[in-house]
Amino acid sequence: MSSWLTAARAVGVAVAARHAADVDRHARFPQEALAALKEQKLLGIMVPQSEGGGGASISDIVAICYALGQSCASTAMIYAMHQIQVSCVVRHGVRSAWHRAFLKRLVGEQLLLASATSEAGIGGDVRSSLCAVEEHAGRFSLAKEATVISYADDADALLVTARRTPQSTGSDQVIVVVPRDGYSLERQQPWDALGMRGTCSHGYRLAARGESAQVIAVPYADVQAYTMLPTSHLVWSALWLGIASDALAKARAFVRAEAKLKPKVTPTGSLRLTQASILMQAAKSTLAASLRQYETALTSEDKLATLAFAVAMNNLKVGTSQTAVRVVGEALQICGLAGYRNDSPFCVAQHLRDVHSATIMVNNDRILANTASLQPALREDPDFLA
Ligand SMILES: Cc1cc2nc3c(=O)[nH]c(=O)nc-3n(C[C@H](O)[C@H](O)[C@H](O)COP(=O)(O)OP(=O)(O)OC[C@H]3O[C@@H](n4cnc5c(N)ncnc54)[C@H](O)[C@@H]3O)c2cc1C
Repeated sequence: MSSWLTAARAVGVAVAARHAADVDRHARFPQEALAALKEQKLLGIMVPQSEGGGGASISDIVAICYALGQSCASTAMIYAMHQIQVSCVVRHGVRSAWHRAFLKRLVGEQLLLASATSEAGIGGDVRSSLCAVEEHAGRFSLAKEATVISYADDADALLVTARRTPQSTGSDQVIVVVPRDGYSLERQQPWDALGMRGTCSHGYRLAARGESAQVIAVPYADVQAYTMLPTSHLVWSALWLGIASDALAKARAFVRAEAKLKPKVTPTGSLRLTQASILMQAAKSTLAASLRQYETALTSEDKLATLAFAVAMNNLKVGTSQTAVRVVGEALQICGLAGYRNDSPFCVAQHLRDVHSATIMVNNDRILANTASLQPALREDPDFLA
């Protein structure tokens, strides 16, 4: 186990879990957990060692997200979203002096990065923008009606998608790194949601400006396909399974208590617990295999660009989000009223509310429609374990 995972686990158990209910009740930013993660220097671990970071792999981040998901879903989601942004700058900003300097600052000051991809008028289609970057004399400005920016009030920098120029088509996009002193936010829609309440995902009118060098030169299409999409689906899946795992732990504790009461009778919930464990085992195996697939593909852009890779990453997201929701539902069924009551140690109400964000956080129907359109071009894989 990495020392990063040990530290993150300790933050999860000692800090994030302790404040999770209050964060949820007041829909507030999990400041205690994020302060502890910063104190442990866990925000810059994915930055390469050449820029002062820890050079952590995506596997390290996935393991941390799974651990945090068991303690506080909002903390885990914030950490995951931050690392998604970091991975984009690390992989695609490496040739730019501005972005390398920014990464050094990120490590030194433990900057928290947030994402402004969603936009009013385009729904959840991240591969299309209405707003545009306007450049003049080495500087840029842009204005965006951002329907959702999680933890924007507590972030130190944003990654914003926009059309490359005002003349560009909707899909000719770039992504821009904007530190806190380069943008203003006007809150439009407050975040009072079913779950993931601590992500504080309010809607904002965003105005940003800065040096043209802050725009990542690589087309956003590539940033999204090679880094943002696979990283998102891997780290999200990890934390959703973390939520499910904690719910299952409660269900197991409930079954154990039942068994103690009536030692000669197998508790009714045991069968359901077994079935839920099978679902979890399959989902975790898929996540581990997808992780391996991504780490192998990272060595070659050709592999990252294949349809099979894109479909595998989409299938991972749709599959784990569905499984996580199902497993938490099974945990509720096992615990019964004890799982339903907010005042019970077996309560899975918050797990249930938080985990339901999984299937709509980039809507599964949208992803399925996208994968469905690729089916005629796909081939069955003739090899297994080759
Ligand atoms: C907890 C949480 C945190 C988030 N944080 C951020 C953040 O920090 N930054 C950010 O930018 N975004 C964030 N988002 C937004 C997220 O990434 C998606 O953009 C958003 O969930 C999609 O919203 P939607 O359902 O309104 O849009 P859509 O995906 O457009 O879905 C709307 C409806 O259209 C249907 N639909 C499905 N497929 C299609 C299709 N092909 N064409 C048209 N309609 C279709 C869907 O079924 C659905 O009924 C967050 C979301 C959540 C839940």
